[in-house]
Amino acid sequence: MIEGIPLPDREGPFEEGFWATLDRGELAHQHCTACGAWHFPARWRCSCKGQLEYRTVSGEAELWSWTLVHAPVLPAFAPFTPYVVGIAQLAEAANLRMVGPVLRTPGDPINAVRLEELRIGMPLRAAIIPIASDIAWPAWLIA
Ligand SMILES: [Zn+2]
Repeated sequence: MIEGIPLPDREGPFEEGFWATLDRGELAHQHCTACGAWHFPARWRCSCKGQLEYRTVSGEAELWSWTLVHAPVLPAFAPFTPYVVGIAQLAEAANLRMVGPVLRTPGDPINAVRLEELRIGMPLRAAIIPIASDIAWPAWLIA
């Protein structure tokens, strides 16, 4: 956990299933019951007009991109600079991409991974970690 960071808004109209599964230590995204499309961020309906339901995903992903942060967005991140922020593309669909820390183990600080360890397309695995006392978010572990 890093103290002093803004917390995500859990009160969105369509995100309850997302946050509820994270609270259980799992990761889920919206899945269309009509066409099978996956969606993130949450939306009220699929573009095919089908209904959406939350389905747990495998947590398997690959590194789609990353950036090395030198100038912290917030003072709370300053002690960790430079640190890697990754974009993980989930195995279920090419449009399911999530931003998060890339780590070796769930307890690593956000600056534990070095650029030399990263390559586009490398396998990652989601680990649900606490970012505040009652908020969890996926970190992406190098598989
Ligand atoms: Zn659909």
